[in-house]
Amino acid sequence: MIDIRSDTVTRPTNAMRQAMHDAEVGDDVYKDDPTVIRLEAMCADLLGHEAALFMPTGTQSNLVALLTHCQRGDEYIVGGEAHTYKYEGGGAAALGGIQPQTVPFGDNGELSFNDVSAVIKADDVHFAKSRLLCLENSQHGRVQSLEYMQSAQDFCDKHNLLLHLDGARMANASVALGASLEDVAKPFDTVSLCLSKGLGAPIGSVLVGDKSFIDEALRWRKVTGGGMRQVGILAAAGMLALTDGFARLHEDHENAQTLAALLADVSGLSVRENWTQTNMVWLDFDNLSSDLEPGKASQGAVDHGTALPAFAKERGVLMSVGRNAGRLVMHRDVSRDDVTTVAGIIKDYFASL
Ligand SMILES: *Cc1c(COP(=O)(O)O)cnc(C)c1O
Repeated sequence: MIDIRSDTVTRPTNAMRQAMHDAEVGDDVYKDDPTVIRLEAMCADLLGHEAALFMPTGTQSNLVALLTHCQRGDEYIVGGEAHTYKYEGGGAAALGGIQPQTVPFGDNGELSFNDVSAVIKADDVHFAKSRLLCLENSQHGRVQSLEYMQSAQDFCDKHNLLLHLDGARMANASVALGASLEDVAKPFDTVSLCLSKGLGAPIGSVLVGDKSFIDEALRWRKVTGGGMRQVGILAAAGMLALTDGFARLHEDHENAQTLAALLADVSGLSVRENWTQTNMVWLDFDNLSSDLEPGKASQGAVDHGTALPAFAKERGVLMSVGRNAGRLVMHRDVSRDDVTTVAGIIKDYFASL
């Protein structure tokens, strides 16, 4: 099967499996797993921050960042479609008593500083304390520029906010920008990076920040589920993700461009052309959800969220899209030929309607 549901589906390479097999390990709770120590030092160095902490997932890494930055009754400001707000089970509120304050993402994935300013709360007993701004890069595949991220830092300095980056796919952003990971990570107090997405590790994320922050984050990692033991086995895969995985990410971006071009004139869908900046292709389908509302004439309306994946699956492609829109995600296990196959299947599907 060609699996374009997400870039999380990559299988570890042979080199990664070998590195896992050969990894020297210790007990990371005693801080004596040498491979974890190497991975954390490597991440701190690559992202230009003092210290790093290995985490099982990006969700836990973001949650630990929020719990470390914010107290109960504090607030963080975040995009309304942001992962930390919408896709992490409300963890910051559920576990930390941290109130999210959302603002809408613009079409380029930026939060407008006017919008953010408007929701920052005065120091008044009526209000939660505005503590942190959280950005995402890439945001739904869209790259945030170095200038924008620098202006976010200036804005936060001025307004006395901390600044966290959910950099789950910041490696893709870095490749698209032609900038180092350090350049992308620099304006932020803390950054979370997933090793398990396009970089191709089977599991793992890292949180970076200054040393005192990471010391405190270690406590919150414990509170949110504890430490891991001979986890150098996973850190070994993570190091290869950062070297070999990083070195080939541009291929996924090229494949996304190719796929977007192949789909450009398919009738029944439109490609969000200005969103094809990294490894994702976003599609909008012509049926509107209002076609499908009960009581409305629904002639010709198709729930593409069900029909297209079923059509594709019969032909050897796994995809996950919604009723009206969806994303196709390129990664290491999708070849240039697979891209042609996928485009052909999508064309056939729309031709069959
Ligand atoms: C995937 C993702 C995460 C969380 O990572 P998991 O490892 O799946 O928990 C966080 N933020 C963004 C933007 C993501 O895409």
